[in-house]
Amino acid sequence: MLDQLPEIIDPVVFAERHSHVVGRIGLQRMVRLSDFLFDKDGELNVNLQFYKEGKVPIIEGRIEGHITLTCQSCLKALPWTVDKTVKIGMVQTIEQADRLEEGFEPMVVSDQKMSLSAIIEDEVIIALPDYPRHESSCMEYSSTKPLFEEPEEIKQESNNPFSVLAKLKITGDQ
Ligand SMILES: [Zn+2]
Repeated sequence: MLDQLPEIIDPVVFAERHSHVVGRIGLQRMVRLSDFLFDKDGELNVNLQFYKEGKVPIIEGRIEGHITLTCQSCLKALPWTVDKTVKIGMVQTIEQADRLEEGFEPMVVSDQKMSLSAIIEDEVIIALPDYPRHESSCMEYSSTKPLFEEPEEIKQESNNPFSVLAKLKITGDQ
């Protein structure tokens, strides 16, 4: 079980070994994606199966997680769920690309070694909307949903003294 995914992979070797890559990847490792992010902290869950279809290494699986984009209308936080199905055929020729099963996207590889985070990053960016924005009006959003969770935390803390008092009271009555 890989918690942190490997950075550099050899897709051919991974495909021959039928490697199953499961783990989490930090958003900080994705520089191009960070342009879209309001909150650059966070992780994505990655579950990828490598195998071979003829001579072509295939990556199939899923990338999912919760990220916070920047709304392009109001420039505030826009919570976004990533749920991307991955179906990639790593081809070296156009003929190989043409022979891929339907639903698979060809990725032209020239080098044996590839950056796994770059592959994941590409998949996530493809799945993003062209123009990320709040569905309802942005003003409405910002007035009904707090951007920060601080008020909740304060509430929880202030509950503690009361529960202590309540306990004391019960003890006192007995
Ligand atoms: Zn907005």
